[in-house]
Amino acid sequence: MKSFKEIYREAENKIAGLAAAPGIVIGRAHLFTKEKVEINKSEITDIDQAINNLDEAVEKSKKELNKIFSIAREKMDEKRAGIFEAQLMILDDPILFGNIKDRIKTEKIQPEYIVSDEISKYQELMIISSESYLKERALDIEDIKFRIIRNLQKKRWQSRIEKEMIVISESLTPADTLLFSRVDTLAFVTDHGGLTSHAAIISRSLNIPAVVGTHNASKMIEDGQSIIVDGFHGYIITSPSEEQIEFFKYKQERLKQLQVDLKEFKEKPAITTDGRTINLEANVDVTGEIDVVITSGAKGIGLYRSEQILDELGEYPNEEEQTNIYSKLASRMYPDFCTIRAFDIGGDKFRLFDYREPNPFLGLRGVRFLLENKSLFKTQIRAVLKASATKNIKFMIPMISTIEEIWETKKLITECKAELRKEKLEFDDKIKLGIMIEVPSAAIMTRELAAEVDFISIGTNDLIQYMMAVDRGNDLVSNLYQEFSPVNIRTIYHIVQEAKLQKVPVSLCGEMAADTLAIPLLVGLGLETLSISAATILYAKKIINSFSYELAKKLADDCVASKTEKEIQDKVVKFFEENNITRTRNII
Ligand code: PEP
Ligand code: MG
Repeated sequence: MKSFKEIYREAENKIAGLAAAPGIVIGRAHLFTKEKVEINKSEITDIDQAINNLDEAVEKSKKELNKIFSIAREKMDEKRAGIFEAQLMILDDPILFGNIKDRIKTEKIQPEYIVSDEISKYQELMIISSESYLKERALDIEDIKFRIIRNLQKKRWQSRIEKEMIVISESLTPADTLLFSRVDTLAFVTDHGGLTSHAAIISRSLNIPAVVGTHNASKMIEDGQSIIVDGFHGYIITSPSEEQIEFFKYKQERLKQLQVDLKEFKEKPAITTDGRTINLEANVDVTGEIDVVITSGAKGIGLYRSEQILDELGEYPNEEEQTNIYSKLASRMYPDFCTIRAFDIGGDKFRLFDYREPNPFLGLRGVRFLLENKSLFKTQIRAVLKASATKNIKFMIPMISTIEEIWETKKLITECKAELRKEKLEFDDKIKLGIMIEVPSAAIMTRELAAEVDFISIGTNDLIQYMMAVDRGNDLVSNLYQEFSPVNIRTIYHIVQEAKLQKVPVSLCGEMAADTLAIPLLVGLGLETLSISAATILYAKKIINSFSYELAKKLADDCVASKTEKEIQDKVVKFFEENNITRTRNII
C-alpha cells in the first residue's frame, strides 16, 4: 500500500488547501453559490414605515439566529456555540442601530443601503486589523449584514440541497455551516477562510471534514462531480481513479476501526477520583501520527520533535518549507496548542554535517548545536513565529544546561521578531517559550531557569541517562537505566516543587509518562500535565480515573523517601493492586 505522501505526489487531479477538520470523505460535490444581493439606494418618503421595516427585519434576524443558536448549543460545546450569541449581541447594539436610524431620518435613503454602509464600516476596521482572528470575525459580520438586508427585502435563506453532499463554496458563514450540517453534509471545501474561521471551527466541532483556503476549488470543481476530501492532509482529489478510490476506502476503514476502539474514553476527561484534572497531551514523532493524535482525545501536542522532519526529508528544510509544516500542524490542532521543540540535533539523532564527536551525547547537541549554528536556528525560529499567527504554538528548547543558553536564545527570538515586524509579517508576539529539563545542571537550577521562561517540560529519557551516567541506548548498562530510581523520583519532585514556587507550569514528556505503571506516581509528585504517545492516552485516562490524588500523593511522598529502585517499584505495584487498577498496556 502506498503512503499518503506518494499518493499526493503522483496525483495530478489534486487541489491543495488547509486541513481544517479531519476525516476522509468520498462523495459528490454540491456547488453552493450565494445569491448576489442587490442593494437598493433609492430615496424614501415614508420614514416611519422604513424604520418599522428595519425593526421587523432585525426582529426576524434575531429569531433566525436564536434558532441557529439553539441548534448550535445542541450540537456543539458552549464556547463554540457562543459565536452565534456574539452575532445576536450585534443585533442588540444600540449605538449601531441608533446611528442607522438617525441616518435613515436625515438622509431619507432605503434602510438596506444604510445598514450595509454602517455595518461595512465595522467590517473595514476588522479587515485592516493585523490580527487574523479579527479578520475572520469580519466574515461573521458579513453574515449579519446580509441577514438583515435579506429580511428587509423579505427573501428566504436558500440552502436546499440534497442530503449527503460535499459542499463547495467560495466561503461559508458559521450559520451556513451549521444549517448544512442538518442535511448530513459530508464535508466542506471553501476557497477562502483560514483555520481560525468559525466555519472551520464549527466543522471540527461537528466532526465534518473540511478543507479551506483552496483559493479556487469552487472554480475547478463541477457541480455533481465525484471527489475525495482529505481533511487530515488538506487535499481534494477530483474525479478519482480506481486506485485512488481503493486507497482512500482502505484509509476510511482503518479510521472507522480506530474510532470504534477509542470511542469509550475519548470524551472522558483524565480526572482522579477526588477531582484533580490531569492534562494529557500527545508526543509526535512522525507526521503520520497526527491523524492518530486528533482522534486520541489528547489535549494538544506537548512535544513535537521537529528533528523528525530532518529524518523524513533527509535534508534541512528552508524557512518556507518549515513554515508550511508548522502552519499545517498548528491548523490541524487548532484551537489546541502544539509545542514545537527546536531541532534536537546531535547525540543519537539526525546530524546535518558529517562530523564525528568522541562523545556525542556529551557534545554538540540540542541548544548547543543550535547556538553554534545561529543562522540555522534563526531560520527555524522565524518559521515557528510565522506559523504562530494562529496563536496556538508554543516553542520549546531542548538540552538546556545553563541560564546563558536561555538568554542567548531569547536574544535570537527578539531579533527574529523585530525582523518579521519590519517585514510586516504576522506572528504571535506573546508566543510562549519553554525549556526542557533533561540535564542534571538544569534540574538543580530549575528555580532560576523557570523564572526566565513560560513553561518547563521534564524530559526523563535524557534526564535519567545523564543523572545515572548511563547511555539510554546501551543494552550493556540498561539495568542502570532506572525510571523508578530514587534519584529520578527525587529529581522530578525537586523540579516540580521549584517550578511551582515560580508559578511556572511544568509537564513531563519523557517515555516514563507513557509507562502506565508510573502514572499514579507522577500525578502524586504534583505533575498536572503529561505528554505521551497518542496511542497511550486513552489507557492513561482510564488509569487516572481509577485512583485518588490524595493516595497518589502519599505514594509519592513514600517513594521520595525510599532508597532503592526495587523499593519504589514494589510500592507502585502494591498501589495498583490495592486500587484495583488493571495493568494491561496500550489498549490500541
Ligand atoms: C526526553 O529526553 O525525555 C525527551 C522527551 O526528549 P528526546 O527523547 O527526544 O530526547
Ligand atoms: Mg531529550
